[in-house]
Amino acid sequence: MPAILLEIRLDEARLTLVRESGVDVTLRFGDEPRGSLLEAEWRQEIIIDDDRVVIAGRLPQCATSAEAVLPNGQRVACAAGSGVWMVVLPNTGRDRQTHPILFRDGDGEPVAPALPAHWERRSVDRLTACPACGRTAWDVVTPPSQLIGSTRTAPWGYAATGPNRAYVCRVCGHQDMIGAVLGNPSRPHHSG
Ligand SMILES: [Zn+2]
Repeated sequence: MPAILLEIRLDEARLTLVRESGVDVTLRFGDEPRGSLLEAEWRQEIIIDDDRVVIAGRLPQCATSAEAVLPNGQRVACAAGSGVWMVVLPNTGRDRQTHPILFRDGDGEPVAPALPAHWERRSVDRLTACPACGRTAWDVVTPPSQLIGSTRTAPWGYAATGPNRAYVCRVCGHQDMIGAVLGNPSRPHHSG
């Protein structure tokens, strides 16, 4: 039996995160028979209408709460529990996938989601304060690329020079992509 982990009620429908089998979690809008699968590292989203989007993901280990940070600095508390989080945000277009989500543990300290251990990571001097947690502690992370058919792809996209890299905050895990997005990011996109 599918189990509902988290639920947000809107006027027209309810949004749910549902555990399907032992491990798979899907995001569903209303009574849709099928949901959008939550991958371990990336967020999933469903566009509700021109004004609103629901974004969801898995909570990092030890995290008990989550808040989204909008481009104007406004912070929106996410629903969180049972290992997952979900929030309804203004539909601001393509940049909504990069809104920082700040996770905190029970003491209120930021928690960084883990990235795969084999991704190359080195610390870097960068004076920009993290938009999510306000600290200045950055790594440059280079994910591996993958060959799918005849196309090279990587988690943040792939450029002529190789996989796209990102600054990743050591404190809260916020990701800030470096340079222009040239390739197609291989992370799942769901456009409702
Ligand atoms: Zn941070």
